[in-house]
Amino acid sequence: MCIRRIVFAHAKSIYDIETPFYSQLGIKYLLLDLDNTLDSYRIYYPTLRAINLINDLREHGITPIIVSNNRGKRVQTYAHFLQIECISSAMKPFAKKIKSFLKASGIEHDKVMLVGDQLMTDIGAANAADIKAILTDKIVNEDQWTTRLNRLIDIPLRNNLKKKGKLPDWRTFYGKS
Ligand SMILES: [Mg+2]
Repeated sequence: MCIRRIVFAHAKSIYDIETPFYSQLGIKYLLLDLDNTLDSYRIYYPTLRAINLINDLREHGITPIIVSNNRGKRVQTYAHFLQIECISSAMKPFAKKIKSFLKASGIEHDKVMLVGDQLMTDIGAANAADIKAILTDKIVNEDQWTTRLNRLIDIPLRNNLKKKGKLPDWRTFYGKS
């Protein structure tokens, strides 16, 4: 996996990113990881800040879609509350489901960006699907056990990328048209 190519930028949290940033890049569809990107994995219903984010994206003409490795019922409950589409059991870092979804919806890959908190799964899937990606930090400390294992690889890898200057802050690409 070529890490250097896959990370477009880093943000501390998805909630830090100003929505016009996506518009400036011509992004029309935002694939959103759920657990520890939008909310804790324990949460079934979106928090107020997630609701506000989704509304803001819509107001800017961006279609949000949840892409989660978590199971159907929980992901669908969350997405249904927000009235947005979702891909559950997405099997990231494999891109098959994402690519099928984009193809079936007639969405061009250069209009899509994925935002997620894990290098191995989220950024890996974005790379495999050939779409831009933003890597975030986790928003809460608690993780599912599978994610805790991934963090063992993610943390040193992320630190290495940071050290080499390969995780530029999203603001680096913002406001410079
Ligand atoms: Mg996550």
